[in-house]
Amino acid sequence: MEYIILDLEFNGTYSKNRHRFFNEIIEFGAVKLDEQLNIVETFSELIAPQISKKLNPHVSALTHITIDELKDSKNTFSHVISKFRKFLGDSVLMTWSNSDILVLMENYRYFFGNDKLSFLKYYVNIQKYCQRAVGNSDRAHQLGLSTCAEMLGITYENKQLHRAYNDAELTALCFKALYDEELLKGYIHTCDNEFYQRVTFKNYNICDLKDAHIDKKEMFINCETCGKRALRRSKWRLKNKSFRANFRCLRCRKDFEGRITFKKHYDHVEVIKKTAELPQKEKQKPSVKA
Ligand SMILES: [Zn+2]
Repeated sequence: MEYIILDLEFNGTYSKNRHRFFNEIIEFGAVKLDEQLNIVETFSELIAPQISKKLNPHVSALTHITIDELKDSKNTFSHVISKFRKFLGDSVLMTWSNSDILVLMENYRYFFGNDKLSFLKYYVNIQKYCQRAVGNSDRAHQLGLSTCAEMLGITYENKQLHRAYNDAELTALCFKALYDEELLKGYIHTCDNEFYQRVTFKNYNICDLKDAHIDKKEMFINCETCGKRALRRSKWRLKNKSFRANFRCLRCRKDFEGRITFKKHYDHVEVIKKTAELPQKEKQKPSVKA
């Protein structure tokens, strides 16, 4: 099995035709790895933008790419994608987090009117894999590529990051350092219809207590000090997309606010519980005699 690690640079622009913002791809960079994870082929192409006339200052500052350089390439998205398809073949495509695959889909849809990358067979979000492989289970914070490289002692001097090819090469070094055949199997997705539903699914916080995805048995809060279940002393209120109520731990004689967030993912609901100090106005209410 061969792996292609792809990195894209793109320019956020407003499309007057479509009346919406659009991330136009301006650079493709990729490496092909053989089964021993050696780089056997490389891919690097600039694209002359068709929608944006100039580069977003943030993009120029980050990449140091100039609009003239892009124009000089005389490449269109359509040229580059057809070259890239050949380069990819039946290999597994990997990108660092799914933002690049989403931008690739966005461009493909814009230029070809098709939601699905018909040429794509297998996909891995290599950021997710690396985060797991380094043992970081903090879902709220994504592991950055340069942080990952640093953790692994991979030095990448004299090369500019945020250029597609360099980022793809650095990703390959991280992948190689963290390679685990068994672990990787769980991260390889076949690109069927379900894959597209999953990758485009936008997680959201459930704001209606009657929502069928909410497990009512989760509506409790434990005291942070003693771990015992606390007594709820108010109705649930919704604030900043979390359900909140006043609680008291009878054992510790402590009052606090309990907060529960139900985050809907494609195939599961994540329950996040926190405690906080009571809001000021709740504190002012006369306390109930114990
Ligand atoms: Zn307690």
